[in-house]
Amino acid sequence: MTGARLHAARRERELAEATDGRTVDLLVVGLGVTGAGVALDAAARGLDVVAVDAHDLAFGTSRWSSKLVHGGLRYLANGQVGVAHESARERGLLMTRTAPHLTHALPMLLPLLPAVSPAQARLAWAGLAAGDLLRAAARTPREVLPRPRRLGRTETLAVAPGLRTAGLRGGLLSWDGQLEDDARLVVGLARTAASHGARVLTRTRVLRLDGATAEIRDETTGATGTVAARAVVNATGVWAGGLVPEVRLRPSRGTHLVLRASSVPGLRAAVMAPVPGTRNRFVLALPQPDGLVYVGLTDEPVEGDVPDVPEPSDAEVGFLLDVAGAAFERPLGRDDVVGAYAGLRPLLAAGGDSTADLSRRHAVVASDGPVVTVVGGKLTTYRQMAEDAVDLALGRSGLRAAPCRTRDLPLVGAAARARLAAVEAPARLVRRHGTEAPAVLAAALGAGLGEAGALAPVADGVPVTRAELLWGVTHEGALDVDDLLDRRTRVGLVPADRALAVPAAEEVLERARSL
Ligand SMILES: Cc1cc2nc3c(=O)[nH]c(=O)nc-3n(C[C@H](O)[C@H](O)[C@H](O)COP(=O)(O)OP(=O)(O)OC[C@H]3O[C@@H](n4cnc5c(N)ncnc54)[C@H](O)[C@@H]3O)c2cc1C
Repeated sequence: MTGARLHAARRERELAEATDGRTVDLLVVGLGVTGAGVALDAAARGLDVVAVDAHDLAFGTSRWSSKLVHGGLRYLANGQVGVAHESARERGLLMTRTAPHLTHALPMLLPLLPAVSPAQARLAWAGLAAGDLLRAAARTPREVLPRPRRLGRTETLAVAPGLRTAGLRGGLLSWDGQLEDDARLVVGLARTAASHGARVLTRTRVLRLDGATAEIRDETTGATGTVAARAVVNATGVWAGGLVPEVRLRPSRGTHLVLRASSVPGLRAAVMAPVPGTRNRFVLALPQPDGLVYVGLTDEPVEGDVPDVPEPSDAEVGFLLDVAGAAFERPLGRDDVVGAYAGLRPLLAAGGDSTADLSRRHAVVASDGPVVTVVGGKLTTYRQMAEDAVDLALGRSGLRAAPCRTRDLPLVGAAARARLAAVEAPARLVRRHGTEAPAVLAAALGAGLGEAGALAPVADGVPVTRAELLWGVTHEGALDVDDLLDRRTRVGLVPADRALAVPAAEEVLERARSL
């Protein structure tokens, strides 16, 4: 799709258009999953959209998630039936229609170790059965997410061979959705929005909103300008209060560790390790595509200014190693940690000292004039959040547009699983680019990389290829090494690997400039 191509020259042209004195229909501020989803929703309804981010696509919380497409089981346990159903429905849409190429079923294993009493195991099983009913109610087929099963001891160890064996009675196996990568979902949304005509502008910061007029700064040059719009959606996540002061947020930090798969050998399912002293809290060891395992998650209040990139604390690293390590025969130590990352959940300050957890629900808040803030929710529910935000923005501004179309709108690269399986291209490229994989390779060959140069790992033990990096520059709007290594690919999650990949990223940027 030519219209889905994002690159530096298009950014420059469209930034000039956006600030040339015209009035566009909708300005979207923030290009995380929420803002990119809003841009797609609005552009697909036929609105004239400008969508900006101060940094890059997926610069904020959206790249620091657990990379799960949740079915909503946890919310059911809290009696939030509506939220649970919404989550299960949106999971089903992502996995079957909008992004089958970026999602797959992930087996989740609760090992029945002595820390899980028989009564807790019965309760957990009842929960998994309810989760399967949610799946059925959301009409997600069993071929996409199989039914939960009780496993015997031997089967449990086959799925997770490193588990502690003393007292192991078996396991409970269920299925949820997993993303290939969270930042890739955002890139897919932004490019699909661009294919419907949205101007997607990174390195474009909104300094101030005055009604629906925004003062912006091009962060590549420092030049300022004005974008005039009929309506604005503020989708700046934990930074939302910086533009709309009446939205008051108090973030809470969630940290993950990154381990090599060799630290927990043979792991074929996500392992749920119970947090001691709690009834329904777990630390998860989540196997990932590129020979990595993520271990998360913490929940720590953050005081003071919201940082651009949050840092995990030493105490969080220790907590995660202790809780996850208790489930495995070989203890996990600091030497196993090859990376760590943290993201911020928005907690809505509800007045006084109390807070309301927005990490489950989302809020769409109208301010004076045609400015709507959308905050909270999940990656999983981005589509519904976008629909609600655009509906409210239309209502507030008097703009007219077609009804929401995104339930049936596949992202670039999406196709049914059978079609994806038949795409003739290297499996790695299909996994990350879906039906675009042959075009990714063709572009690299066309740029003179040669097949070996295009598809070889960029460094020993770093599976990313030059073909992906080049596509990142020519089609996915990457402007520098950081965009390539920290957002279009996720090499940056392991700092030692990142250092090895920098020369390839620099070489590819240079090559793209000469095309
Ligand atoms: C630790 C953690 C784990 C999670 N795991 C999961 C999970 O497994 N599955 C799931 O479904 N959900 C998960 N979530 C929830 C999910 O990650 C978030 O709900 C979602 O990413 C929020 O996206 P967003 O677009 O609203 O915000 P963000 O991704 O933070 O995007 C906001 C953007 O606004 C930009 N911005 C800020 N100020 C300005 C400005 N003035 N001008 C222009 N741009 C600006 C920022 O650069 C940023 O890119 C998790 C959340 C956390 C914290």
